[in-house]
Amino acid sequence: MSRDQRMDFGQRCPAFLYFIGKCFFDMKILGIESSCDETAAAVVEDGVTTLSAVVSSQVEMHRPYGGVVPELASRKHLEMIVPVVSQALHAAGIDKNQVDGVAVTQGPGLIGALLVGFCFGKAFAYASGIPWIGVDHLGGHIHSVFLTSPSPEFPFIALLASGGHTSIYYVISHTNAQCLGQTVDDAAGEAFDKVAKMLGLGYPGGKVIADLAATGDPDRIPFPRSFLDKNAFDFSFSGLKSAVHRYIQTHSNDYKDQINDIAAGFQDAVVDVLTYKVMRAASAKDCRQIALVGGVAANQRLRERVRSHAQKSGIAVFAPPPDLCGDNAAMIAAAGYHYLNARGERAGDLNADVYSRATYTKVNSSSSAGIAI
Ligand code: ADP
Ligand code: MG
Repeated sequence: MSRDQRMDFGQRCPAFLYFIGKCFFDMKILGIESSCDETAAAVVEDGVTTLSAVVSSQVEMHRPYGGVVPELASRKHLEMIVPVVSQALHAAGIDKNQVDGVAVTQGPGLIGALLVGFCFGKAFAYASGIPWIGVDHLGGHIHSVFLTSPSPEFPFIALLASGGHTSIYYVISHTNAQCLGQTVDDAAGEAFDKVAKMLGLGYPGGKVIADLAATGDPDRIPFPRSFLDKNAFDFSFSGLKSAVHRYIQTHSNDYKDQINDIAAGFQDAVVDVLTYKVMRAASAKDCRQIALVGGVAANQRLRERVRSHAQKSGIAVFAPPPDLCGDNAAMIAAAGYHYLNARGERAGDLNADVYSRATYTKVNSSSSAGIAI
């Protein structure tokens, strides 16, 4: 369908009818992500095939500040959104008239940063006469596991561990999940970042700590594991962070000679808790499949530890390749494809706004109701 035909069709017919008319085959969704410090765009076909995925990271710009500066992030997104989307379309070998729908991160995240991608996504879809949908960033992370094959079947347990969130979900369908537990203080990735900062290793810290830990002794410095209630699925990493801080203070003369062991001890303390809780959730829900998603899911020690425990219990583990663990737009496009299918005419309310906090949080464990994602 040419652009003119599409615009004409779009004016006569609501955009979602066009979407339905395509029968959900070969649907090319443009995904846009700008919730934090990555401007990302991707084209994904039918929720599974990545035709392109472009990520423009702001890490270098924020590094001198030891963390993300929200106002700088928004300004950089404004500068990068057009070139990043153009690059994603070019790399996918399509032009803007061949996009069938737009999926854009709506929240949670930094409001100013989210607004850039969200307004761009709405405007792109409106101008093209195609449907669009706001995607929850956490639902996007869960969908990263469908971008490679094999992928899990429903229901499965997902551990989402990132810089801003650490939660366990019982995922019932593409649009429905129960949050079984979440961190009560720091996220796992945040703990990695803060410990790296304490050790003078810069920002972000996950990869640096993991690299140093590879040659450290994880058992030499026993850092605490906070399980909270061992039968529940909440996390707490602030005590571990304080323990590392105390160790550095009490060994101020020689901690620099022990950085690899500190990194290894800290990493194992995080990995032990994440592994225990995700295995416990699989057992509680009698689930034979686990997905590891979010930036911390790139951690090899975590992947190996969960895989080795799961193998003993006959549980399959799915984790996206490391470049799809961190924030990206392919996962947003993958989720958006299913949301658009599910929501039809309710998709794409132009009055919709961004939100900063997670909307699907822990449910009463006795409730069987899922939360729309
Ligand atoms: P968010 O969505 O919260 O912005 P991401 O999903 O992009 O976060 O993940 C970024 C987080 O992942 C950072 O806190 C980073 O330190 C952490 N991270 C990245 N790679 C690793 C790794 N190999 N080991 C542990 N943590 C990691
Ligand atoms: Mg993320």
